[in-house]
Amino acid sequence: MKVNGQLGCNLCGEIVPQDHSHSISDGNGGFTSYCSEDCYKHALQLRSHTAQRIERKLNTLSMKLSSCNPLDEFTRLLEKMNQLHEAKGHDYGDNVKSYANCRTSEDLGIPAWKGAFIRLMDKVSRIKTFARQGELKVKDESIEDTFLDLANYALICLILYREAAQFERDRDGDCRLDAAEYLLKGDLVGRIVK
Ligand SMILES: [Zn+2]
Repeated sequence: MKVNGQLGCNLCGEIVPQDHSHSISDGNGGFTSYCSEDCYKHALQLRSHTAQRIERKLNTLSMKLSSCNPLDEFTRLLEKMNQLHEAKGHDYGDNVKSYANCRTSEDLGIPAWKGAFIRLMDKVSRIKTFARQGELKVKDESIEDTFLDLANYALICLILYREAAQFERDRDGDCRLDAAEYLLKGDLVGRIVK
């Protein structure tokens, strides 16, 4: 800093004595000069405060960065999915695990997993509307909750699909047993007739 052609104190602007006895290196080969011991000490203090402030900022930033880790975020959202699933028990039927409301489709001959899939599609069209119009017409559920609910319905579909597949396997197994029993009976009857 120059004052009337002479070097001015970097803190108060007063003229710096010719000997530059109070100077601090700026770390780039240059230096900043001060008019007095007081200004020099004050400047050193400010420097250390600034350094501390920068360090605190860096710490907060690195904490924020680690909390943005997508894997941590995924685990946290799985927890939220579960919370929503439990809170919405009434939507899924009296017993959360029974998914009674998805099973009503069975009355019409539609497997429960397809009933759940229709509810999943409702969530998809809600998100579609939001994607197109940028807002939700019916605001009873936030877009974030809709995404989570969509994920929940995907799992409910899987649970009900597995249940149906197991039912099919059991029924096929029963049919094979029936057939074996029938053949065996026929064989016995054949022997008796002979
Ligand atoms: Zn000064």
